[in-house]
Amino acid sequence: MLPATPSLGIADSLLVSAGRMLGLPEDLVEILRHPKRELTVSIPVKMDSGTYRVFTGYRVHHNIARGPAKGGLRFHPQVTPEEIRELAALMTWKCAVVNIPYGGAKGGVVCDPSVMSKGEIERLTRRFVSELSIILGPDRDIPAPDVNTSEQVMAWILDTYSMTVGHSMLGVVTGKPIAVGGSLGRREATSRGVFSALHEAMAEVFPGKPAGEIRVAIQGFGNVGSNLARILHEEGFRLIALSDVHGGIRSDSGIDVPAALDYSASGGSIAGMPGCEEIDNQQLLAGPCDILVPAALGGQITERNARHVQAKLVVEAANAPITVEADEILRSRGVVVIPDILANAGGVVVSYFEWVQGLASYFWTEQMVNSRLEEIMRGAYCSVRNIADTQRCDLRTAAYLLAVGRVAEATRVRGIFP
Ligand code: GLU
Repeated sequence: MLPATPSLGIADSLLVSAGRMLGLPEDLVEILRHPKRELTVSIPVKMDSGTYRVFTGYRVHHNIARGPAKGGLRFHPQVTPEEIRELAALMTWKCAVVNIPYGGAKGGVVCDPSVMSKGEIERLTRRFVSELSIILGPDRDIPAPDVNTSEQVMAWILDTYSMTVGHSMLGVVTGKPIAVGGSLGRREATSRGVFSALHEAMAEVFPGKPAGEIRVAIQGFGNVGSNLARILHEEGFRLIALSDVHGGIRSDSGIDVPAALDYSASGGSIAGMPGCEEIDNQQLLAGPCDILVPAALGGQITERNARHVQAKLVVEAANAPITVEADEILRSRGVVVIPDILANAGGVVVSYFEWVQGLASYFWTEQMVNSRLEEIMRGAYCSVRNIADTQRCDLRTAAYLLAVGRVAEATRVRGIFP
Protein backbone atom coordinates (compact mmCIF):
# COMPACT_ATOMS: atom_id res chain seq x y z
CA MET A 1 0.00 0.00 0.00
CA LEU A 2 1.14 3.54 -0.69
CA PRO A 3 1.36 5.82 2.36
CA ALA A 4 -1.81 7.91 2.59
CA THR A 5 -0.21 11.35 2.91
CA PRO A 6 0.28 13.66 -0.04
CA SER A 7 3.72 14.02 -1.55
CA LEU A 8 6.03 16.49 0.15
CA GLY A 9 8.20 17.09 -2.90
CA ILE A 10 8.74 20.19 -4.97
CA ALA A 11 5.37 19.96 -6.75
CA ASP A 12 3.54 19.88 -3.45
CA SER A 13 5.29 22.90 -1.94
CA LEU A 14 4.81 24.87 -5.17
CA LEU A 15 1.12 23.97 -5.27
CA VAL A 16 0.67 25.26 -1.73
CA SER A 17 2.47 28.55 -2.43
CA ALA A 18 0.69 29.01 -5.79
CA GLY A 19 -2.63 28.40 -4.02
CA ARG A 20 -1.78 31.16 -1.54
CA MET A 21 -0.69 33.60 -4.25
CA LEU A 22 -3.87 32.89 -6.25
CA GLY A 23 -6.01 33.35 -3.14
CA LEU A 24 -7.51 29.84 -3.47
CA PRO A 25 -9.51 28.46 -0.54
CA GLU A 26 -7.31 26.25 1.65
CA ASP A 27 -9.70 23.29 1.39
CA LEU A 28 -9.51 23.41 -2.41
CA VAL A 29 -5.70 23.33 -2.24
CA GLU A 30 -5.97 20.39 0.15
CA ILE A 31 -8.10 18.54 -2.43
CA LEU A 32 -5.54 19.29 -5.18
CA ARG A 33 -2.69 17.98 -3.02
CA HIS A 34 -4.13 14.48 -2.80
CA PRO A 35 -3.81 11.92 -5.58
CA LYS A 36 -7.22 10.83 -6.84
CA ARG A 37 -6.37 7.11 -6.84
CA GLU A 38 -3.39 4.81 -6.57
CA LEU A 39 -2.98 1.19 -7.54
CA THR A 40 -0.18 -1.10 -6.37
CA VAL A 41 0.12 -4.44 -8.13
CA SER A 42 2.22 -7.57 -7.82
CA ILE A 43 3.50 -8.83 -11.14
CA PRO A 44 4.57 -12.48 -11.29
CA VAL A 45 6.89 -13.03 -14.25
CA LYS A 46 8.32 -16.25 -15.61
CA MET A 47 12.05 -15.59 -15.97
CA ASP A 48 14.17 -17.25 -18.66
CA SER A 49 15.49 -19.64 -16.00
CA GLY A 50 11.98 -21.09 -15.71
CA THR A 51 11.35 -19.78 -12.20
CA TYR A 52 8.90 -16.99 -11.31
CA ARG A 53 9.85 -13.62 -9.82
CA VAL A 54 7.37 -11.17 -8.41
CA PHE A 55 7.84 -7.48 -9.27
CA THR A 56 5.95 -4.54 -7.78
CA GLY A 57 4.30 -1.92 -9.97
CA TYR A 58 2.43 1.32 -9.29
CA ARG A 59 0.05 3.58 -11.18
CA VAL A 60 -1.10 6.86 -9.66
CA HIS A 61 -3.83 9.14 -11.01
CA HIS A 62 -3.13 12.49 -9.44
CA ASN A 63 -5.98 14.58 -10.87
CA ILE A 64 -8.51 14.15 -13.68
CA ALA A 65 -10.44 17.43 -13.45
CA ARG A 66 -9.33 18.54 -16.95
CA GLY A 67 -9.43 15.19 -18.76
CA PRO A 68 -8.19 11.58 -18.68
CA ALA A 69 -5.13 10.74 -16.61
CA LYS A 70 -1.95 10.96 -18.72
CA GLY A 71 1.66 10.12 -18.04
CA GLY A 72 4.54 7.77 -18.60
CA LEU A 73 5.54 4.41 -17.19
CA ARG A 74 9.10 3.84 -15.99
CA PHE A 75 11.08 0.68 -15.35
CA HIS A 76 13.84 1.35 -12.84
CA PRO A 77 15.29 -0.33 -9.73
CA GLN A 78 14.86 2.87 -7.70
CA VAL A 79 11.15 3.39 -8.42
CA THR A 80 9.30 4.21 -5.18
CA PRO A 81 5.62 4.94 -4.53
CA GLU A 82 6.54 8.43 -3.29
CA GLU A 83 8.42 9.20 -6.49
CA ILE A 84 5.57 7.97 -8.70
CA ARG A 85 3.12 10.08 -6.73
CA GLU A 86 5.31 13.15 -7.13
CA LEU A 87 5.72 12.53 -10.86
CA ALA A 88 1.95 12.04 -11.30
CA ALA A 89 1.38 15.47 -9.76
CA LEU A 90 3.98 16.97 -12.11
CA MET A 91 1.99 15.54 -15.05
CA THR A 92 -1.19 17.29 -13.83
CA TRP A 93 0.62 20.64 -13.78
CA LYS A 94 2.50 19.95 -17.02
CA CYS A 95 -0.67 19.20 -19.01
CA ALA A 96 -2.29 22.30 -17.53
CA VAL A 97 0.64 24.62 -18.36
CA VAL A 98 0.47 23.68 -22.04
CA ASN A 99 -3.33 23.62 -21.87
CA ILE A 100 -3.96 20.11 -23.21
CA PRO A 101 -7.11 18.35 -21.96
CA TYR A 102 -5.58 15.81 -19.61
CA GLY A 103 -5.09 15.14 -15.95
CA GLY A 104 -1.89 13.70 -14.51
CA ALA A 105 -0.73 10.12 -13.94
CA LYS A 106 2.48 8.16 -13.61
CA GLY A 107 3.43 4.55 -13.25
CA GLY A 108 6.48 2.48 -12.59
CA VAL A 109 7.79 -0.99 -11.96
CA VAL A 110 10.67 -1.70 -9.59
CA CYS A 111 12.99 -3.67 -11.88
CA ASP A 112 16.34 -3.42 -13.64
CA PRO A 113 15.68 -3.85 -17.35
CA SER A 114 19.43 -3.73 -18.10
CA VAL A 115 19.76 -7.25 -16.67
CA MET A 116 16.52 -8.65 -18.13
CA SER A 117 16.04 -10.31 -21.52
CA LYS A 118 13.62 -8.92 -24.10
CA GLY A 119 11.25 -11.80 -23.40
CA GLU A 120 11.30 -11.12 -19.66
CA ILE A 121 10.59 -7.41 -20.25
CA GLU A 122 7.72 -8.33 -22.60
CA ARG A 123 6.15 -10.72 -20.08
CA LEU A 124 6.59 -8.12 -17.30
CA THR A 125 4.95 -5.42 -19.43
CA ARG A 126 2.02 -7.58 -20.50
CA ARG A 127 1.24 -8.79 -17.00
CA PHE A 128 1.60 -5.24 -15.62
CA VAL A 129 -0.87 -3.93 -18.22
CA SER A 130 -3.26 -6.74 -17.47
CA GLU A 131 -3.12 -5.85 -13.76
CA LEU A 132 -3.65 -2.14 -14.58
CA SER A 133 -6.41 -2.76 -17.14
CA ILE A 134 -9.09 -1.94 -14.55
CA ILE A 135 -7.98 1.70 -14.59
CA LEU A 136 -6.58 2.10 -18.14
CA GLY A 137 -8.43 3.14 -21.29
CA PRO A 138 -8.42 5.86 -23.95
CA ASP A 139 -10.84 8.01 -21.98
CA ARG A 140 -9.50 7.05 -18.53
CA ASP A 141 -5.74 6.69 -18.39
CA ILE A 142 -3.26 6.74 -21.26
CA PRO A 143 0.34 5.61 -20.50
CA ALA A 144 3.40 6.65 -22.52
CA PRO A 145 7.18 6.10 -22.51
CA ASP A 146 9.35 7.30 -19.65
CA VAL A 147 12.68 6.16 -18.17
CA ASN A 148 13.69 2.80 -19.77
CA THR A 149 10.38 2.21 -21.58
CA SER A 150 10.63 2.16 -25.35
CA GLU A 151 8.27 2.28 -28.34
CA GLN A 152 8.38 -1.54 -28.28
CA VAL A 153 7.06 -1.53 -24.70
CA MET A 154 4.23 0.77 -25.86
CA ALA A 155 3.41 -1.69 -28.68
CA TRP A 156 3.08 -4.52 -26.10
CA ILE A 157 0.81 -2.28 -24.01
CA LEU A 158 -1.38 -1.59 -27.05
CA ASP A 159 -1.52 -5.28 -27.93
CA THR A 160 -2.24 -6.52 -24.41
CA TYR A 161 -5.03 -4.02 -23.81
CA SER A 162 -6.50 -4.65 -27.27
CA MET A 163 -6.47 -8.44 -26.69
CA THR A 164 -8.39 -7.88 -23.45
CA VAL A 165 -11.14 -5.75 -25.05
CA GLY A 166 -11.24 -7.77 -28.26
CA HIS A 167 -10.35 -5.07 -30.77
CA SER A 168 -7.46 -2.70 -31.50
CA MET A 169 -7.60 0.40 -29.38
CA LEU A 170 -5.03 2.90 -30.59
CA GLY A 171 -5.97 5.58 -28.05
CA VAL A 172 -4.96 3.54 -24.98
CA VAL A 173 -1.25 4.35 -25.16
CA THR A 174 1.01 6.93 -26.84
CA GLY A 175 4.64 6.82 -27.92
CA LYS A 176 3.79 3.77 -30.07
CA PRO A 177 5.80 2.70 -33.12
CA ILE A 178 4.61 4.38 -36.36
CA ALA A 179 3.55 0.94 -37.68
CA VAL A 180 0.79 0.69 -35.05
CA GLY A 181 -0.56 4.24 -34.91
CA GLY A 182 2.37 6.18 -33.48
CA SER A 183 2.71 9.83 -34.44
CA LEU A 184 5.40 11.16 -36.69
CA GLY A 185 7.61 13.42 -34.58
CA ARG A 186 6.77 11.78 -31.21
CA ARG A 187 10.26 10.35 -30.74
CA GLU A 188 11.96 13.76 -30.91
CA ALA A 189 9.03 15.70 -29.40
CA THR A 190 10.40 16.19 -25.88
CA SER A 191 13.75 17.38 -27.23
CA ARG A 192 12.09 19.72 -29.75
CA GLY A 193 9.98 21.18 -26.98
CA VAL A 194 13.04 21.61 -24.75
CA PHE A 195 14.75 23.39 -27.63
CA SER A 196 11.74 25.73 -28.16
CA ALA A 197 11.76 26.72 -24.49
CA LEU A 198 15.55 27.15 -24.43
CA HIS A 199 15.39 29.23 -27.60
CA GLU A 200 12.69 31.50 -26.17
CA ALA A 201 14.85 32.11 -23.07
CA MET A 202 17.98 32.94 -25.08
CA ALA A 203 17.17 36.57 -25.85
CA GLU A 204 16.57 37.23 -22.19
CA VAL A 205 19.54 35.38 -20.69
CA PHE A 206 22.14 35.84 -23.46
CA PRO A 207 21.05 38.98 -25.34
CA GLY A 208 22.90 39.38 -28.63
CA LYS A 209 25.09 36.30 -28.14
CA PRO A 210 25.30 34.03 -31.22
CA ALA A 211 24.54 30.32 -30.76
CA GLY A 212 28.14 29.37 -31.65
CA GLU A 213 29.41 31.16 -28.53
CA ILE A 214 26.98 29.43 -26.19
CA ARG A 215 28.43 26.42 -24.41
CA VAL A 216 25.95 23.69 -23.52
CA ALA A 217 26.33 20.71 -21.16
CA ILE A 218 23.74 17.90 -21.19
CA GLN A 219 23.41 15.27 -18.47
CA GLY A 220 21.77 12.14 -19.89
CA PHE A 221 22.06 10.65 -23.37
CA GLY A 222 18.81 8.71 -23.61
CA ASN A 223 16.02 9.62 -26.02
CA VAL A 224 15.73 13.20 -24.73
CA GLY A 225 19.41 14.05 -24.19
CA SER A 226 20.69 12.55 -27.44
CA ASN A 227 18.00 14.11 -29.67
CA LEU A 228 18.51 17.45 -27.95
CA ALA A 229 22.29 17.26 -28.53
CA ARG A 230 21.62 16.64 -32.23
CA ILE A 231 19.12 19.53 -32.52
CA LEU A 232 21.42 21.97 -30.66
CA HIS A 233 24.34 20.90 -32.85
CA GLU A 234 22.26 21.46 -36.01
CA GLU A 235 21.28 24.89 -34.69
CA GLY A 236 24.96 25.80 -34.26
CA PHE A 237 25.35 25.61 -30.46
CA ARG A 238 28.64 24.45 -28.93
CA LEU A 239 28.12 21.18 -27.01
CA ILE A 240 31.01 20.99 -24.56
CA ALA A 241 29.96 18.22 -22.16
CA LEU A 242 27.74 15.14 -22.39
CA SER A 243 27.17 12.26 -20.01
CA ASP A 244 25.19 9.10 -19.52
CA VAL A 245 24.83 6.60 -16.71
CA HIS A 246 28.36 5.21 -17.35
CA GLY A 247 30.20 8.56 -17.31
CA GLY A 248 30.81 11.68 -19.36
CA ILE A 249 32.97 13.48 -21.89
CA ARG A 250 34.12 17.06 -22.21
CA SER A 251 35.77 19.10 -24.94
CA ASP A 252 36.05 22.86 -24.57
CA SER A 253 36.42 23.34 -28.31
CA GLY A 254 33.12 21.49 -28.86
CA ILE A 255 32.20 17.81 -29.06
CA ASP A 256 31.67 16.28 -32.50
CA VAL A 257 27.99 15.45 -31.84
CA PRO A 258 27.34 13.17 -34.88
CA ALA A 259 30.45 11.18 -33.85
CA ALA A 260 29.20 11.01 -30.24
CA LEU A 261 25.80 9.72 -31.45
CA ASP A 262 27.53 7.02 -33.53
CA TYR A 263 29.94 6.13 -30.71
CA SER A 264 27.09 5.77 -28.22
CA ALA A 265 24.92 3.80 -30.66
CA SER A 266 27.70 1.29 -31.36
CA GLY A 267 29.13 0.85 -27.84
CA GLY A 268 26.08 1.58 -25.67
CA SER A 269 27.65 4.63 -23.98
CA ILE A 270 29.40 7.90 -24.78
CA ALA A 271 31.85 7.37 -21.92
CA GLY A 272 35.39 6.90 -23.22
CA MET A 273 34.85 8.58 -26.59
CA PRO A 274 38.32 9.25 -28.04
CA GLY A 275 39.49 12.87 -28.34
CA CYS A 276 37.55 14.07 -25.28
CA GLU A 277 38.44 14.52 -21.63
CA GLU A 278 36.71 12.00 -19.35
CA ILE A 279 34.47 13.42 -16.64
CA ASP A 280 31.88 12.06 -14.24
CA ASN A 281 28.30 13.25 -13.77
CA GLN A 282 29.20 15.56 -10.87
CA GLN A 283 31.89 17.24 -12.96
CA LEU A 284 29.36 17.71 -15.76
CA LEU A 285 26.88 19.47 -13.47
CA ALA A 286 29.56 21.69 -11.91
CA GLY A 287 31.71 22.31 -14.97
CA PRO A 288 31.99 25.61 -16.87
CA CYS A 289 29.11 26.12 -19.38
CA ASP A 290 26.43 28.69 -20.24
CA ILE A 291 23.44 26.35 -20.44
CA LEU A 292 23.07 23.21 -18.35
CA VAL A 293 20.42 20.66 -19.33
CA PRO A 294 19.74 17.87 -16.83
CA ALA A 295 18.07 15.23 -19.02
CA ALA A 296 18.48 12.13 -16.86
CA LEU A 297 16.84 11.22 -13.56
CA GLY A 298 15.36 13.36 -10.78
CA GLY A 299 17.21 14.77 -7.77
CA GLN A 300 20.51 15.48 -9.54
CA ILE A 301 21.05 19.11 -8.49
CA THR A 302 20.89 19.20 -4.72
CA GLU A 303 21.94 21.49 -1.89
CA ARG A 304 25.35 19.81 -2.10
CA ASN A 305 26.19 20.80 -5.68
CA ALA A 306 23.83 23.72 -6.52
CA ARG A 307 26.44 26.30 -5.45
CA HIS A 308 28.88 24.85 -7.96
CA VAL A 309 26.59 25.14 -10.98
CA GLN A 310 28.25 27.64 -13.31
CA ALA A 311 25.52 27.86 -15.98
CA LYS A 312 23.39 31.00 -16.23
CA LEU A 313 20.47 29.02 -17.63
CA VAL A 314 19.32 25.57 -16.49
CA VAL A 315 16.69 23.82 -18.60
CA GLU A 316 14.94 20.90 -16.88
CA ALA A 317 14.58 18.30 -19.63
CA ALA A 318 14.22 15.60 -16.94
CA ASN A 319 11.41 15.53 -14.41
CA ALA A 320 12.30 17.04 -11.01
CA PRO A 321 16.11 17.12 -11.53
CA ILE A 322 16.47 19.99 -9.00
CA THR A 323 15.53 19.54 -5.35
CA VAL A 324 13.53 22.19 -3.44
CA GLU A 325 16.66 23.32 -1.55
CA ALA A 326 18.80 23.47 -4.69
CA ASP A 327 16.10 25.46 -6.50
CA GLU A 328 16.27 28.09 -3.77
CA ILE A 329 20.08 28.25 -4.00
CA LEU A 330 19.99 28.65 -7.80
CA ARG A 331 17.32 31.35 -7.53
CA SER A 332 19.34 33.30 -4.94
CA ARG A 333 22.36 33.12 -7.25
CA GLY A 334 20.35 34.57 -10.17
CA VAL A 335 20.44 31.38 -12.27
CA VAL A 336 17.41 31.23 -14.61
CA VAL A 337 15.66 27.84 -14.49
CA ILE A 338 13.10 26.74 -17.08
CA PRO A 339 11.00 24.31 -15.01
CA ASP A 340 10.28 20.73 -16.07
CA ILE A 341 6.52 21.20 -16.36
CA LEU A 342 7.17 23.75 -19.11
CA ALA A 343 10.54 22.70 -20.56
CA ASN A 344 9.83 19.01 -21.15
CA ALA A 345 6.11 19.25 -21.99
CA GLY A 346 6.77 18.65 -25.71
CA GLY A 347 6.57 14.88 -25.17
CA VAL A 348 3.09 14.90 -23.73
CA VAL A 349 1.96 17.54 -26.25
CA VAL A 350 2.79 15.19 -29.13
CA SER A 351 1.32 12.31 -27.12
CA TYR A 352 -1.88 14.35 -27.19
CA PHE A 353 -1.54 14.74 -30.97
CA GLU A 354 -0.98 10.98 -31.26
CA TRP A 355 -4.08 10.23 -29.18
CA VAL A 356 -6.19 12.64 -31.26
CA GLN A 357 -4.88 11.11 -34.52
CA GLY A 358 -5.61 7.57 -33.28
CA LEU A 359 -9.15 8.45 -32.13
CA ALA A 360 -9.89 10.20 -35.43
CA SER A 361 -8.01 7.61 -37.55
CA TYR A 362 -6.57 10.55 -39.44
CA PHE A 363 -2.79 10.94 -39.38
CA TRP A 364 -0.87 14.18 -39.75
CA THR A 365 2.34 15.01 -41.58
CA GLU A 366 5.50 15.46 -39.52
CA GLN A 367 5.54 19.12 -40.51
CA MET A 368 2.02 19.58 -39.05
CA VAL A 369 3.06 17.86 -35.81
CA ASN A 370 6.22 19.94 -35.44
CA SER A 371 4.65 23.29 -36.24
CA ARG A 372 1.70 22.72 -33.88
CA LEU A 373 4.12 21.61 -31.16
CA GLU A 374 6.18 24.74 -31.61
CA GLU A 375 3.09 26.93 -31.52
CA ILE A 376 2.00 25.38 -28.20
CA MET A 377 5.47 25.55 -26.64
CA ARG A 378 6.00 29.17 -27.63
CA GLY A 379 2.54 30.17 -26.42
CA ALA A 380 3.07 28.42 -23.08
CA TYR A 381 6.52 29.98 -22.61
CA CYS A 382 5.10 33.41 -23.40
CA SER A 383 2.19 33.00 -20.95
CA VAL A 384 4.57 31.85 -18.19
CA ARG A 385 7.01 34.69 -18.94
CA ASN A 386 4.18 37.27 -18.75
CA ILE A 387 3.05 35.93 -15.36
CA ALA A 388 6.66 35.99 -14.11
CA ASP A 389 6.94 39.63 -15.20
CA THR A 390 3.68 40.82 -13.71
CA GLN A 391 4.07 38.83 -10.46
CA ARG A 392 7.84 39.51 -10.28
CA CYS A 393 8.56 35.85 -9.69
CA ASP A 394 10.71 33.11 -11.21
CA LEU A 395 9.54 30.95 -14.12
CA ARG A 396 8.77 27.92 -11.95
CA THR A 397 6.47 29.88 -9.64
CA ALA A 398 4.84 31.46 -12.71
CA ALA A 399 4.30 28.06 -14.37
CA TYR A 400 2.62 26.76 -11.21
CA LEU A 401 0.44 29.88 -10.97
CA LEU A 402 -0.79 29.21 -14.52
CA ALA A 403 -1.23 25.45 -14.05
CA VAL A 404 -2.77 25.47 -10.58
CA GLY A 405 -5.12 28.28 -11.63
CA ARG A 406 -6.39 26.19 -14.56
CA VAL A 407 -6.91 22.99 -12.54
CA ALA A 408 -8.50 24.91 -9.66
CA GLU A 409 -10.93 26.59 -12.05
CA ALA A 410 -11.87 23.23 -13.62
CA THR A 411 -12.44 21.79 -10.15
CA ARG A 412 -14.45 24.80 -9.00
CA VAL A 413 -16.72 24.91 -12.02
CA ARG A 414 -17.34 21.13 -11.98
CA GLY A 415 -18.01 21.23 -8.24
CA ILE A 416 -17.13 18.53 -5.74
CA PHE A 417 -19.34 15.43 -5.97
CA PRO A 418 -21.87 14.78 -4.47
N1 GLU B 1 7.00 10.56 -19.77
C1 GLU B 1 6.81 11.82 -20.42
C2 GLU B 1 6.70 12.94 -19.41
O1 GLU B 1 7.14 12.82 -18.31
C3 GLU B 1 5.68 11.78 -21.43
C4 GLU B 1 4.33 11.52 -20.85
C5 GLU B 1 3.24 11.32 -21.91
O2 GLU B 1 3.51 11.53 -23.08
O3 GLU B 1 2.14 10.98 -21.50
O4 GLU B 1 6.25 14.01 -19.72
